[in-house]
Amino acid sequence: MSKVFVGVDRGGTYRVYLTISTDLAEEARRIHNTTPLATAALGRVITATGLMGLMLKEEKDKLTVIFKGDGPLEQIIAAANGKGQVKGYVNNPSAHLPLKGPGKLDVGKGIGKGELTVIKDIGLKEPQQGKIALVSGEIAEDLTLYYYVSEQQNTSVALGVMIDVDLKVKHAGGMILQMLPGGERTEAVIHLEKILADLPPLTSLIEEIPENLSEDERLEALSKRIFSSMPVEFELRKIAEGEITWKCDCSRKRLEKVVAALGEEELSDIIEKDGKAEILCNFCNEKYEFTKEELLSIYESIK
Ligand SMILES: [Zn+2]
Repeated sequence: MSKVFVGVDRGGTYRVYLTISTDLAEEARRIHNTTPLATAALGRVITATGLMGLMLKEEKDKLTVIFKGDGPLEQIIAAANGKGQVKGYVNNPSAHLPLKGPGKLDVGKGIGKGELTVIKDIGLKEPQQGKIALVSGEIAEDLTLYYYVSEQQNTSVALGVMIDVDLKVKHAGGMILQMLPGGERTEAVIHLEKILADLPPLTSLIEEIPENLSEDERLEALSKRIFSSMPVEFELRKIAEGEITWKCDCSRKRLEKVVAALGEEELSDIIEKDGKAEILCNFCNEKYEFTKEELLSIYESIK
């Protein structure tokens, strides 16, 4: 579980969602046994997706974020709901590339050229879908462009995952900053642009914060560190707090649907040849076993 700081400035011109998501990113690493490159990429994606989930209006609203590229990571899918529960996986958890600088994992190349798709299910008849060509595959830049193009929202996304010497996640964090509609914004924008242009990597900022503080205090300190140069009329104030949590909502019922979706022909093939099936949930690697009798009954139901 990672806490989230939600703040709006005094003048009501911008809104910030900020998290230190080290626990979340480490949980994803542990579940998927990822290489540092895959850990960094997946950690960034689930951090952002969790924050985007919290930004949905209703707790039952859902969204799915898909990064699909021609790099060795192939594809990363993450899904979250309005409660901030998030899950995700990377197609190739053992992807590896040379560093692009001291300690700098080449997530951009890992994803490569491709597309970002965001699907929102907010209880309308059809889910809404937005798609853009990737800018860099570095995740944060791509999401920033997505907001601009698909949602006509001036948004800035910052994400970071730092890997420790033992290959676990040392620090991870994310921030989504959005301009709010209305109000006199020009001056605030000028200041924000300067802050973002000079912003050191989030993980370096997180590293500076004393470990002995509580999660809330650390987030508060991080927000102060980032926005301390804002003029007093645009000072950031905390208006709410939330949390993003790793949670996979898979179940036997859901996996039965996956089995049924194989279709009559393939299913009868499996029944004849193997007499059983093992299906892994992509998101959490939980294994579901189906006996011949169970497969037959699914087969009957779709025949
Ligand atoms: Zn699962």
